[in-house]
Amino acid sequence: MTKELEPGSRILIAEDDLVSRRMLQVFLAKWGYEVVVARDGREALQTLEAEGAPSLAILDWMMPGLEGPEVCQRVRHHPGRRYTYILLLTARTQKGDLLRGLESGADDYLTKPFDAQELRARLLVGRRILELQESLITVREELLFQATHDGLTGIANRAVALEAIARERALQARKGGTFGVVLLDLDHFKNINDSYGHLCGDAVLKEAARRIAGCVRPYDTVGRYGGEEFLVVVPFADGAGTLAMAERIRHTIGSEPFQSDAGPIRVTISCGVATSEKALDQNALLHLADVALYRAKERGRNRCEAAISTDEPSPAPPVDSSLKPVSQ
Ligand SMILES: [Mg+2]
Repeated sequence: MTKELEPGSRILIAEDDLVSRRMLQVFLAKWGYEVVVARDGREALQTLEAEGAPSLAILDWMMPGLEGPEVCQRVRHHPGRRYTYILLLTARTQKGDLLRGLESGADDYLTKPFDAQELRARLLVGRRILELQESLITVREELLFQATHDGLTGIANRAVALEAIARERALQARKGGTFGVVLLDLDHFKNINDSYGHLCGDAVLKEAARRIAGCVRPYDTVGRYGGEEFLVVVPFADGAGTLAMAERIRHTIGSEPFQSDAGPIRVTISCGVATSEKALDQNALLHLADVALYRAKERGRNRCEAAISTDEPSPAPPVDSSLKPVSQ
């Protein structure tokens, strides 16, 4: 089943009585709905539980197999699913019955014989609610995206990249194996900003993020660590594997100039690589990568350096470089 174009544009009619079913079908088609039909409760449930199910449903109360309220109950059992707006159709007029219908999870009910215009109006209410719900979901997804992604480059933000380390550490504690991190930094980025302006600098950061993301496997995490610094978390990798990944990224960044409004710009990166062999905590691991990155800068930039055991304990950085970012 394909996804409906707008919420509530496709509707399920579940009705065992042929005449009522046909009548509903004719009305709904005339009002512009795409109609899906079920002849009993089981068929209705099957349709509503399928991928791309209609989000609007009219269920007859009395049906063979499963009755309308039972179908409602079962549909509501999957709260994670996209919402189905359900209208129960019933010959019952006792208040107790109607309450039971609503308690089963129906959103509304109509007693038979129903008035066509009233049905039409009530379905419009249903569509309005579905539309509201859809826009809430969209807003929630947008907020979630904003909370987890870097606004400029669209890749994961620092918090998500750090979470990836925490996740890999937990996995390592349980299943063993190692993972790697690559801390990388654009060389002389300040010069790009100073020479070409910040807009151009932003475009370079975006392109760098795109190239880095293109180098990694689907289960690696690429995050913007801050400024012109990026963090790549590489699961299931030892030192050699992580270093190979870093070299691949370095090559991809440096091999082709970045195209910008100001013409082609050559960009290079320096990388510091560390792996989790010693089951270090997040800060210690990042510190090792940072020290290795610092060494890559010291040794001329546009290169990758792996953390070495002499990197611990931390060597104090020279006084002047602590005043100045390492990346400059
Ligand atoms: Mg019936």
